[in-house]
Amino acid sequence: MTETTPRKAIITGITGQDGSYLAELLLGKGYEVHGLIRRSSTFNTDRIDHIYQDPHVPHPRLFLHYSDLTDGSRLVTLLNEIQPHEVYNLAAQSHVRVSFDEPEYTGDVTGLGTIRLLEAIRALGLDTRFYQASSSEMFGATPPPQDENTPFYPRSPYGVAKLYSYWITRNYREAYGIFASNGVLFNHESPRRGDTFVTRKITRAVARIAAGQQTELFMGNLDSVRDWGYAPEYVEAMWLMLQHDTPGDFVVATNTAFTVKDFLQLSFEHAGLEWEKYVRFDERYLRPTEVDSLIGDASKARDVLGWTPTILTPRLAQIMVDADIKALELGGIRYVDSVQTQ
Ligand code: NDP
Ligand code: GDP
Repeated sequence: MTETTPRKAIITGITGQDGSYLAELLLGKGYEVHGLIRRSSTFNTDRIDHIYQDPHVPHPRLFLHYSDLTDGSRLVTLLNEIQPHEVYNLAAQSHVRVSFDEPEYTGDVTGLGTIRLLEAIRALGLDTRFYQASSSEMFGATPPPQDENTPFYPRSPYGVAKLYSYWITRNYREAYGIFASNGVLFNHESPRRGDTFVTRKITRAVARIAAGQQTELFMGNLDSVRDWGYAPEYVEAMWLMLQHDTPGDFVVATNTAFTVKDFLQLSFEHAGLEWEKYVRFDERYLRPTEVDSLIGDASKARDVLGWTPTILTPRLAQIMVDADIKALELGGIRYVDSVQTQ
């Protein structure tokens, strides 16, 4: 019997929301997965501990390597050692508000990090497919609906850095023939979403308020409109992009619109609470420039890749509230859908 060699994928940002779901997806498809993680003085692998395998047991398929998108020579070394078939660049300083506080660092990681990876692929002459985690934040002030032909108008250092990465990905595709695709993903959430993004901030607060552990929730602009989808479905779109015959750029979205206020209402109502009783305003959560409305048209992803979302914002809010209530019951763990609870 002949054994086939598994396909090898590198995921930068494997410890993040999307990286953890993508790692699960690829392991499920038989890939050998190499995750790049940052050295930290505390453990930062909560989202992937449940899929990590002891390297001493036979045939592990998930490997973790210390690395950082600011360290180009390390990326060259790792790509050369691993010789991946696919590279998913999900690492970033990914928080819009924080990007106003740390604009230079955000440019370095979220922007220049991408060219460090692409240069490593080019210089090593690797035959690998490259996925870039581009963002609807690049559309910024351009009114919805937004699709692949909508002009960009970023409104934050994060959006500007992502735009650099978007264009350098296209440029390396055109200049060197690298199979490099941009997924222009609209906001996507899950029980593994970072604690300070608006959806998770709300659903964690709902769980704590319902449990009598919190009485107020301080928020910024409640009027902005977002198109919130479900992260496990969005990582499938990433994979589909790299399986397609040709590289390209694809919007991934649900084409639905909800305000932050709507998300508050959906989440509090699911726990039998009235949001107006608990929510207070704090200007520290405002941004110097806001993105008022993002609603994506993902027709191309549907027609070309066969990708369609099934979980829309109302169901998403319920999934996240239920997970945060359960997490609290289990003693305050952070990501309830990444631990064995049975
Ligand atoms: P997260 O913030 O959850 O994860 C970001 C990941 O990047 C983490 O693994 C983090 O590591 C890693 N990282 C941060 N800085 C560095 C660095 N200097 N070197 C190496 N790794 C680093 O983001 P998401 O999973 O939500 O998003 C994935 C990608 O998709 C990001 O690029 C994001 O900007 C983009 N995106 C996300 C959208 C969304 O709605 N979620 C929408 C559109 C685009 P650590 O765990 O150590 O912090
Ligand atoms: P973004 O779309 O990538 O900026 O994702 P966020 O989840 O951080 O923010 C979504 C929207 O919620 C933005 O328009 C924010 O201004 C708005 N918002 C309102 N209050 C808050 C808050 O307390 N925290 C965050 N993160 N966003 C908030």
